[in-house]
Amino acid sequence: MGCSCFGSSRVDQKDLLGKTKHFTYKELSAATDQFHQRNKIGRGGFGTVFKGNLRNGTPVAVKTLSAFSKQGLREFLTEIEAISNVRHPNLVQLYGCCVHGDNRILVYEYLENNSLDSVLLGRFRTIKLDWSKRAAICLGTAKGLAYLHEELVPRIVHRDIKASNILLKRDFTPKIGDFGLAKLFPDDITHISTKIAGTTGYLAPEYALGGQLTMKADVYSFGVVLLEIVSGKSSSRSNWGGTEKLLLEWAWELYQGEKLMDLVDPELDDIPEQEALRYIKVALFCTQANASRRPSMSQVVSMLSRDIRLNEKQLTPPGFFQGSGAHNSLQSKDKLSGASASFQMSSAPTTLTELNPR
Ligand code: ATP
Repeated sequence: MGCSCFGSSRVDQKDLLGKTKHFTYKELSAATDQFHQRNKIGRGGFGTVFKGNLRNGTPVAVKTLSAFSKQGLREFLTEIEAISNVRHPNLVQLYGCCVHGDNRILVYEYLENNSLDSVLLGRFRTIKLDWSKRAAICLGTAKGLAYLHEELVPRIVHRDIKASNILLKRDFTPKIGDFGLAKLFPDDITHISTKIAGTTGYLAPEYALGGQLTMKADVYSFGVVLLEIVSGKSSSRSNWGGTEKLLLEWAWELYQGEKLMDLVDPELDDIPEQEALRYIKVALFCTQANASRRPSMSQVVSMLSRDIRLNEKQLTPPGFFQGSGAHNSLQSKDKLSGASASFQMSSAPTTLTELNPR
């Protein structure tokens, strides 16, 4: 531990860091071979991620933040402290951080099987994810999110739930990553293709267009991930069902046509049909246009883990947000009735740490 310069003022990090581990730049540089390209394991909107090995042999993921927050060092470290004390089997653990001049670096536990999107949809597709692994990934992710929303104080809305933020342990236990970054970065940092932080394809319409952020925006994104896991298809493309359709749009069409099994990944063998159907229906409950009709994450955990009959009479059409530059459009299509759902809009973005009741 030591002092570091931040702007012109010297700040005693020891006072600020409390129980959070502070790594020196030298330590992290040695762990990653001077941040060598061969140790680069990914690049996201917030910065580059390197694999490293600490002196005691612990493997770590070292994330260098490229567009750091305008917050002061004190606030940055206070938030780090809050996040690094969060422990849950389905959340990536933050081991600590490093502040070195203008550099801000976060050190996380290293997950051997990379991210869900690379295994399911990308360069690690050679790894076979059978149904039981997929079901466990869905359930574990739901539990992690339920913890952030309903047990943690203060509660956290992740606001960027997507397949690349779900990391997989060696045994494929899922862990949600990046849950602290949403808090650490101010709203004016836009890291993806929308003005509102988040990723097109996963954004709840009321949040994408109205800036209305509640836990239910995460529930929506989770529903989209659920569809991706069951179908093995990406929500960022819109060419499903033989026409220009988003994955969710296609799922709803199949639901209405009672052909939901067509959505299930053809690469899966021995699928428990009733369970697969239940998972898809849970995804449809999560992505309903009207946010208040979406279940809470603890309800999602129950819906996924127990063989219960879902009350489909209560299921209403999904909402879609298709973002492409300035041509964002909000659509909620009820193809049976032709009715379109309406959304409650609020122009003021809510804070990231939500205290809304469930
Ligand atoms: P964005 O930041 O735009 O949301 P992202 O989630 O892909 O995108 P990062 O969180 O920076 O961006 O991660 C980039 C990649 O680094 C991940 O997709 C994953 O391959 C790898 N990665 C990140 N954290 C870890 C970790 N703890 N263990 C192993 N690999 C990781």
